[in-house]
This record gives sequence, C-alpha cells and structure tokens, in this order.
Amino acid sequence: MLVNSKQILEDAKANGYGVPAPDFFDLDSARCFVEVAEELRRPIILSFAQVHCGMGLLSLEEAAWIGRHFARKTQVPIVLHLDHGTDEAFLKEAIDLGFTSVMLDASMQSFEENVERTGAMVEYAHARGVTVEAEIGHVGTGANYDSYENSDSVYTTVEEAVAFVRQTGVDSLAVSIGTAHGAYKNARQPVLNFQRLHELGKAVPVPLVLHGSSGSGEENLRRCAAEGIAKVNVLTDFFVGAMAEIEKVGPATYLELKAAADAGMKNMLRRCFAIYQP
Ligand SMILES: [Zn+2]
Repeated sequence: MLVNSKQILEDAKANGYGVPAPDFFDLDSARCFVEVAEELRRPIILSFAQVHCGMGLLSLEEAAWIGRHFARKTQVPIVLHLDHGTDEAFLKEAIDLGFTSVMLDASMQSFEENVERTGAMVEYAHARGVTVEAEIGHVGTGANYDSYENSDSVYTTVEEAVAFVRQTGVDSLAVSIGTAHGAYKNARQPVLNFQRLHELGKAVPVPLVLHGSSGSGEENLRRCAAEGIAKVNVLTDFFVGAMAEIEKVGPATYLELKAAADAGMKNMLRRCFAIYQP
C-alpha cells in the first residue's frame, strides 16, 4: 500500500528505531527491496534519487511507475520517496507522477534561502498529501573524508535545526553528525557526534534522517537508530553487497550474475533491518 512518510516516521521516532530508505536505481533493485519488506512485514521508504535520472539509470516516469506498481500490490506500507531533489520543477513533477514524499536538498545554500525554498515546497506538497524532508547543515562525501574535523561536511547545530523546522513546517529533517555519502576514503569508519544527535533528538520536534549510512559501521548505525534517527538512507552498501555475492558465486552466465546481485542486495537490506530495528 502506498503511503506518505508521516505515520511511519513518527512511529519510528516515538519508539526509537530506524526505517530503511534504500535508493532503487532499476526494476530489480526496487523489486528486491519490496520483497524483503514484505518478507519481514515492515514498512519501507522506497527512494529514488534525482541524480540517477541524470545518469540515465531510470527516467522519473519509469521510477514512478515502478514504485507505484510495487506499492500497490504489497500489503506493507511503502513510501515512494524522491531523494535529493535539487529543483522545484522536478519535485512537482514527481508529486504529479505519484511520489508520496520528497526531499528538497538546498543544504548547500544559505539558511535563509533553504528556509524559503523548503517552506514553499512544504506548502505545495502538503496541499497534495505529500510529506517533505529537508537538510540542514550538510552531509559531505566519503571521498573527501579524512576525519570528523577534516571533511567537507557542515555539522548541524541544534539552534539552526529547531529554527529551521519552526520556520518551514518540514516533516522530517536530515542532519549532519559525521556520516558522508558514498564509500569512505581508505574504507575509514567515521566518528559520529552522538552527543549532538542526542541533543537534536530532544530539541527537534520532527523525525531525524541519516544520510550517508553506507560503510559507517554497524555499531554506529545501531546507536543512531536507537538514539534518534528515524530514517536511514542507504545506497552504496547495496552495490557492495551485490558485488560480494557475485564474487562468492562466480556466475557463469549473465542471468546467474543478475540473480547473485539480487541475492546480495536482499541480504544487505535484511542486515539493515536487523541493525535499525533490533
Ligand atoms: Zn543523501
């Protein structure tokens, strides 16, 4: 069943667990993610990133069709989420095509501009029953990660987060506490600021979102989910899981290779559920 993220994330916030938000990038990955959600009878946030349109993986129409198709035929609640939307026209098109949740990422802009753009998107989306995520502070990239002090992330402050939610009416908030997108340089596990997460969880009235979870370490992620993160974005770990299974199986044909990749992605998502929802 297709739903927006409101109830799912508020339940996660209230009960101290995280909901996986895997990015699908083709039909197979979407099917794998939904099958695991059904098998475990848990809600999932099926996400599609705007950047993957640009890479030619799926068009927005194809992603909407795939997401709606699986959501409608399953019993578990499925959120169809647009991840890292950077322009309003694209997000509005996604909403028209049936996405039930969108992220407007203006985290690289000034606080004021982020507030203005997010507030306008919230107004547009809420009128259509769609929930909105935004980001305050900035989650950088793993390729630029040397240490907590030396990275391209801008860490979220409690004051900014509280003011941002109050001024925009946003439904969930991505925060920067030490993770980074993609693989970490030299496979280094990040140092996370749990003190800050704890303060954010207490002060910010809406569910918090963690970006850049891949490669961040199981113990770190377990603590994040237990200590205030309600939505956990994940992509790179599925590539890692698929490749690990392909290497293990040593497929002789293309169809065997696809089957191994699917099995690897499904195993990785089962592991995510086990970590965020112990
Ligand atoms: Zn992200």
